Amino acid sequence: MVSISEAYHQIIKNSVSLSSQFVDLNKATSYYLSEDVISPIHMPPFRQSAMDGYALNLHENEQYNLIGEIKAGDSRQIILNPGDAVRIFTGAPVPDSANAVIMQEKVVVDENRLKIESRISPQENIRPIGEQVQLGKIALPKGTLLTPAAIGFLSSLGIARVNITRKPSIAIVSTGNELIAPGELLERGKIYESNITMLYSALNSVNFHDIETFRVKDDYEATLELIDKLMNDYEMVIITGGISVGDYDFVGKALKELKVKELFYKVKQKPGKPLYYGKKGKTTVFGLPGNPAAALSCFYIYVRTCLELISGNKNHHLSEFKASSVNEFVKKGDRPQFLKAIFNGDTVEILEGQSSAMLQTFAIANALVFIPEEVQKINMGDVVEVIPLPV
Ligand code: AMP
Ligand code: MG
Repeated sequence: MVSISEAYHQIIKNSVSLSSQFVDLNKATSYYLSEDVISPIHMPPFRQSAMDGYALNLHENEQYNLIGEIKAGDSRQIILNPGDAVRIFTGAPVPDSANAVIMQEKVVVDENRLKIESRISPQENIRPIGEQVQLGKIALPKGTLLTPAAIGFLSSLGIARVNITRKPSIAIVSTGNELIAPGELLERGKIYESNITMLYSALNSVNFHDIETFRVKDDYEATLELIDKLMNDYEMVIITGGISVGDYDFVGKALKELKVKELFYKVKQKPGKPLYYGKKGKTTVFGLPGNPAAALSCFYIYVRTCLELISGNKNHHLSEFKASSVNEFVKKGDRPQFLKAIFNGDTVEILEGQSSAMLQTFAIANALVFIPEEVQKINMGDVVEVIPLPV
């Protein structure tokens, strides 16, 4: 049995980025850049007006001669002598001979004469060439998450394809004779399968979509055969159930037989003690507890961390916030705990119904509260660590 921090450390140590791939920018959302992107242009590429107004060649006087107009997209150069002004619009190129743009609200125009009504300093309202990024400089560094803003920014530099770190192909496996598919008749002793759909959804919610699902009965040969095949065909295999110490838990035995390298098995925590992490070749395996709430906790804390790291996120950490608890909680036993909770920024409510078999509590939670080993009791008002959950 390892501690939470040892388990976490093993994942950080063993999670190597997958290979990279060139993709169209419009397919790159939520991936991480696998290399620095160097700007192919100055941005902005020309001196740009930041306002609708008038470009001026400044002189001492408040009066200017209006000599022309430049719209966004125009490429014509107009030469302004001191005291000349041209009508200009946001985004339009400022003539080289203009040295300031004044907002249209700050001038009075009378035919071809213009009077400025406020002080204006040189370069005001002109975006200089390369203000955002200069040609040849790093526009975005390796490891940047391609958010909509990042995608828009790269597009503004004329970039149409980017080199990203691939995401893994993932197999989810449920084990158990008792499991039946939603829609089938619920016979005595059977339960509806929920971990596959839950994990599929959890993966989707953190932007992983290359997923296939499999079911296997509590049968050693069948488990061995399926895991063997999946270890060859996928880069990540997430198995739920069958990893505990029951007589019909065959996952551990099968992984051993297949010579998967065990990096840890069993973590001192609640829920999710029977958690397995291993690797063979290019493939990572997680054996999650069968109890649905425990499986989901382990997913958010461990599997997601691993997925982020192998997908090129260089600084993944569980984003932890602090909040004061609105209720009391007494811990049973000495294992550190992850508790389902409702977090609203300043305060957090630890929910009733923390059993690892109960998904209803998880369904209304938006965060986990972490209670370290040495803390036995949370009093109302105590500040606790909060891990917000993705939606
Ligand atoms: P196990 O880890 O296989 O002993 O399973 C622990 C508990 O989780 C048992 O009550 C199982 O019935 C339940 N369980 C296991 N797998 C699933 C699943 N895929 N969906 C719902 N419940 C499950
Ligand atoms: Mg089972």
